[in-house]
Amino acid sequence: MTAHSAITAFAREAGSLSVGGIPVDRLAERVGSTPFFAYDRGLLTRRIELLRATLPSGIDLSYAVKANPMPAVVQHLSGLVDSFDVASALEMRTALDTPMPANRVSFAGPGKTSAELTQAVAAGVTIEMESENEADRVAAIGERLGIRPRVAIRVNPDFQVKGSGMRLGGGPQQFGIDSERVPTVLKDLAAADLDVLGFHVFAGSQNLRAESICEAQRRTVELALRLAADAPGPIRYLNLGGGFGIPYHDKDEPLDLGAVAANLAELLDGAIRPGLPDARVVIELGRYIVGECGVYVTRIVDRKQSRGKTFLVVDGGLHHQLAASGNFGQVIRRNYPLAIANRIDQDAEETATVVGCLCTPLDLLGNDVSLPRAEIGDLVVLFQAGAYGLTASPTAFLSHPAPAEVLV
Ligand SMILES: *Cc1c(COP(=O)(O)O)cnc(C)c1O
Repeated sequence: MTAHSAITAFAREAGSLSVGGIPVDRLAERVGSTPFFAYDRGLLTRRIELLRATLPSGIDLSYAVKANPMPAVVQHLSGLVDSFDVASALEMRTALDTPMPANRVSFAGPGKTSAELTQAVAAGVTIEMESENEADRVAAIGERLGIRPRVAIRVNPDFQVKGSGMRLGGGPQQFGIDSERVPTVLKDLAAADLDVLGFHVFAGSQNLRAESICEAQRRTVELALRLAADAPGPIRYLNLGGGFGIPYHDKDEPLDLGAVAANLAELLDGAIRPGLPDARVVIELGRYIVGECGVYVTRIVDRKQSRGKTFLVVDGGLHHQLAASGNFGQVIRRNYPLAIANRIDQDAEETATVVGCLCTPLDLLGNDVSLPRAEIGDLVVLFQAGAYGLTASPTAFLSHPAPAEVLV
């Protein structure tokens, strides 16, 4: 367990795990209360450096804000990535509060209201249209405001990606316009006063299989080349999605980023540059950028035995970190990596089960984990909490206070 890359990414100081150079027990005093989320600024920067060093230079990097919309995180990333992808009006506002220019913000997601679309057109962000109805509404809003909306078509591809934790493309979907309808939609759009920039395909999330991601990217490029023939002008934007996964469990092998990068380089030189010379080519990532850079810190409130099993009861739970309980998209519940922060150098001595403070058996954070002997007051840290942690959790459930979030 201690060999998990998530744990080894964080430094240790004086027997304690540290985040952003501060031992977690000291950080807990600084924050003033547990539980809390802590994100490591240095790890975020290093993650982007890794992506920049590995991916071909012709690829733009976009951050999908919904993975972690904390304003300080988005602000930090604004100086490191090329663009932001947002999925609500509030995410859009958070993105626009940073120095990122509006024309480098794109707005995706089904069910955008006319009010949200109006805000997006007025802001000058790119709207990734998810349906034909949305296209009509955007055109009408642009006419009313006297602004030519910047749009792209989110395409629901005619293929599926294998190995994704969550699938968002292929078959019938609430996402995007079916690829076979796109030629007709493009003809209609040519008559409307819209600046049609290009295409966006996002077919799946949390994929650890490089060969599946490569295949999806190849097929996405083929599809875009086919669809470009019906576009009213040159394609200036091609968003290939992402879906790069991170290892959550002992047996997960990290994604082979080098293999994905080599495939992208081949596609850029062999197909995209010759076929779509004006396209800005974008990979958009949420989880891969922030997921491993954050921890959820809780304190042990109770330690009890029940019929031979040792339970450590912490002051946090699934209301803040739903994914660690196995209830956010997982089919089979497996433990996320966790550790006793203030005993990080001690050897495992016992098997304990870590549970949250909610009155439901779903609130299981670590089942039968090998740990040093932990006492009341010790700090349990859950790793891989930087993406889809607080933002994807039912904070109102059981009416406990919301946790703090810090960027260190
Ligand atoms: C959620 C989302 C992403 C980010 O997905 P990750 O798996 O976190 O990288 C990217 N693009 C779109 C359109 C999304 O909805």
